[in-house]
Amino acid sequence: MTTIFSRIIKGELPCRKVFENERIIAFWDIAPQAPVHILIVSKKELKSLQEAKEKDQLLLGEMLLIATEIAHDLDIQEGYRLLTNIGSDAGQVIHHLHFHLLGGRVLGHIA
Ligand code: 5GP
Repeated sequence: MTTIFSRIIKGELPCRKVFENERIIAFWDIAPQAPVHILIVSKKELKSLQEAKEKDQLLLGEMLLIATEIAHDLDIQEGYRLLTNIGSDAGQVIHHLHFHLLGGRVLGHIA
């Protein structure tokens, strides 16, 4: 499974990076839907959250906590949305596990 995100992780494509460690990279979305729109991407190639297993618990928890740290760093900790699309029916376009961190404006209700 090679996606655009795999190529960003390998450094083959550029990104506006805000965080990176051995397991996770986070960068600005190329087509932001809000003043703050960051993608938090696992380096492990999982197609989506649905493919995650018990052994991925720590990775998933770390992704969520990194989101809170980025939200704080970008000064949107008072209100933001964290979401992940699972599958094409939900609008997932890049089939590589990632969370969207959206904020910086009032976000409407969903669901
Ligand atoms: P999905 O719809 O799969 O949940 O979200 C994929 C996101 O990746 C979209 O918000 C889209 O704008 C973003 N995206 C697609 N290609 C690139 C790229 O090359 N660089 C960056 N930074 N974001 C991208």
